[in-house]
Amino acid sequence: MIQLYLPLNFLGVIYREIKQSLADMERLFGLLDQNREVADSPKAQPLATKGAEVAFSHVEFSYETKRQILFDVDFTIPAGTTTAVVGHSGSGKSTLSRLLFRFYDVNGGAIRIDGQDLRDITQESLRAAIGIVPQDTVLFNDTIEYNIAYGRPGASREDIVAAARAASIHDFIESLPDGYGSMVGERGLKLSGGEKQRVAIARTLLKDPAILIFDEATSALDSRAEQAIQAELKEIAKNRTTLVIAHRLSTIADAQQIIVLDHGRIVERGTHYSLLAAQGLYAQMWERQLARPDEDVASPPLEAMV
Ligand code: ATP
Repeated sequence: MIQLYLPLNFLGVIYREIKQSLADMERLFGLLDQNREVADSPKAQPLATKGAEVAFSHVEFSYETKRQILFDVDFTIPAGTTTAVVGHSGSGKSTLSRLLFRFYDVNGGAIRIDGQDLRDITQESLRAAIGIVPQDTVLFNDTIEYNIAYGRPGASREDIVAAARAASIHDFIESLPDGYGSMVGERGLKLSGGEKQRVAIARTLLKDPAILIFDEATSALDSRAEQAIQAELKEIAKNRTTLVIAHRLSTIADAQQIIVLDHGRIVERGTHYSLLAAQGLYAQMWERQLARPDEDVASPPLEAMV
């Protein structure tokens, strides 16, 4: 009996661990209580990335049948470059990142990485290729070491410390009484917005993904902290295909491509300077941002500004 019990018990532990890490991942996206809607196709293959070009091709999407959220969204992020998406609250920016992570399938068109349709590749390989620095980093009720190592379970202490150093959070961690063993999260030490983002950056550095999604925090950090985070993000975005969901235009002025979304449609695209010269919606948002630098440009609907 005990011979049968031990392997079964072991399987139970593995099952719980897998379930927990899926739950953790969904918490990152705030999706814990939602049904998982997509499944691997029986013919799914692991993603094979070359440079990780990301292409949204004529994407149509609705969460609910009656309300379409994205209309004919068509853009490519060339391998190793940064594309930023701006637009008012509810225009569909975060939906793009959820679709790229394949929490939902598109209703029309396709999303491809290096030519491979997301629906034809395994979700495990897709999620291994994408790192996310979310708007509000979820910290698990565990040690700070666990929270960083979450980017690559089984990482050595040396690699964890190197990632923390690169994210400029090592000195802070060392200053805590229990160092890397300090408990954080709801039931532990509460970290500031900037510290939490640094944990997310360290996690992502450890994961070393080909594709990066950066969902900028809506609330501004103080401007010194903001500048430091920006410098670190620039560092991790280097040579990775990066999608930035932007809330402050000052942070994306040097993105190779900026896309302006309005009610789920791309209404403008270009570089910061070409969009300013076009004197459209982006230029209006920029003017407004200059006047109120700490404000989230996404917050008021664009109509309110025209
Ligand atoms: P913000 O700048 O406020 O973060 P956003 O541009 O990222 O906004 P999304 O989060 O992509 O906007 O949401 C686009 C639209 O989809 C919104 O109208 C939102 O209410 C709706 N939406 C988002 N998630 C769901 C969901 N799970 N079910 C139904 N509708 C949803």
